Amino acid sequence: VQHDVAIVGAGPAALAAAVATADRGLRTVLLADQDAPWAPNYGGWVDELEGVGLGGYLGPIWSDALLVLGEGDVRSAGRRYARVAKRRLRAALLERCAALGVEVRPVRAHEVTHDATGSTVRAGDDALRVGLVIDASGHKPVFVRRAGEPTAFQAAVGFLGRPAGQPFDAERMTFMDLRTDHVDDELGPAAPTFLYTMPLSPQRVFVEETSLVRAPAVPFGVLLRRLRERLRRMDVVLDEVESTEMCLIPMDTPLPDLDQRVVGFGGAASMVHPASGYLLGRVFGTAPELAATVADGLGRGTPPAEVARRAWRTIWTDEDLRRRELHLFGTRILAGLDADEQRRFFSGFFAMPRDVWAGYLAARGDVASVVRAMSSMLWHSSTRIRWKLLLSGARRPGALLRAAV
Ligand SMILES: Cc1cc2nc3c(=O)[nH]c(=O)nc-3n(C[C@H](O)[C@H](O)[C@H](O)COP(=O)(O)OP(=O)(O)OC[C@H]3O[C@@H](n4cnc5c(N)ncnc54)[C@H](O)[C@@H]3O)c2cc1C
Repeated sequence: VQHDVAIVGAGPAALAAAVATADRGLRTVLLADQDAPWAPNYGGWVDELEGVGLGGYLGPIWSDALLVLGEGDVRSAGRRYARVAKRRLRAALLERCAALGVEVRPVRAHEVTHDATGSTVRAGDDALRVGLVIDASGHKPVFVRRAGEPTAFQAAVGFLGRPAGQPFDAERMTFMDLRTDHVDDELGPAAPTFLYTMPLSPQRVFVEETSLVRAPAVPFGVLLRRLRERLRRMDVVLDEVESTEMCLIPMDTPLPDLDQRVVGFGGAASMVHPASGYLLGRVFGTAPELAATVADGLGRGTPPAEVARRAWRTIWTDEDLRRRELHLFGTRILAGLDADEQRRFFSGFFAMPRDVWAGYLAARGDVASVVRAMSSMLWHSSTRIRWKLLLSGARRPGALLRAAV
């Protein structure tokens, strides 16, 4: 065996895992098919990102996140939000990999075989003999097997650009501007979208028209037209567009088979939060635990198949599986709301005590607060939403009950 662990990928999950395994003394090789900056404009709640060690890689940080429900109806989340300083984070992770002796190979992994003592990964022209393979190759993984394909997606189109004048308050970001008066297309208010705004400086802004979750996804063309029309109505002119983000996040990817020899991580392991589309908190929070399990198993000479099984159950504990069922239940409801219902839903959601809604959105919030958030929403929602909730639950009552009790 040349290496204890081979990690496939070059995104946040692969680098987080590589640093964590090398930190545990495991001889780690990273098979990264690209050496390019990360494309997405990652963001998240400051307390959550700080909690997983990303506090040094945030900026800008906004003192509050706003929810716009209508003309003059603006609510405050009362919680700090930040953009992830992705270049700085990526550079720091690569530096740490180098310092810890991670071997980085610029190759695309394409085949893997296993036997009782380890695995052989073929990447480019190389064949590497390793103890364990961690596949962090993203939402369409090269090796990880799953029972099916996702059906519901978050879709968004965003501009990073220079606005004329200073149309945005640089102190606060807008988490969701749920107004939909600009919507005049074939999908209409039945497929609601909202604006997500990160004012990066007086001269730079990131604005994104977002469909929280829909099956099938709201097409990029519709999102682009809505974004342009919304900005026109807001009198926002972008003098220059630096980049355009096209975001498509699978929200209900089936769970991987937790008995397979290749361990998945990040998008590859269906770790995206099914109600928000966030992943970074979960990835950086779990990487050290994953590394500890692998180091312990390989260190004791445990058969690799058993190490893989334990690694999977570190990423997907029983508690995680219960939380996921509850979140997926919520996501199916969200995917069916029209514009009015979505406004009412989020008006109620953010009116709950902060620890309750934050617990629902957290990567690993405790199951009790997820249940509390869901019952509170059920209690306070309109009759129509309540029926949707109940009907959706009735379709899979066993799974829901198992998750909730
Ligand atoms: C536009 C966008 C915006 C997002 N915004 C947020 C956000 O604000 N907050 C948040 O928490 N989450 C966000 N997400 C969700 C999630 O965090 C990202 O999708 C995240 O990039 C997933 O991380 P990952 O490392 O699992 O996969 P990826 O970032 O997709 O990385 C996978 C890597 O594997 C490499 N690779 C693929 N196949 C192979 C192979 N065969 N061999 C070697 N390498 C291979 C790819 O080149 C790529 O570098 C966003 C997603 C998108 C698409």
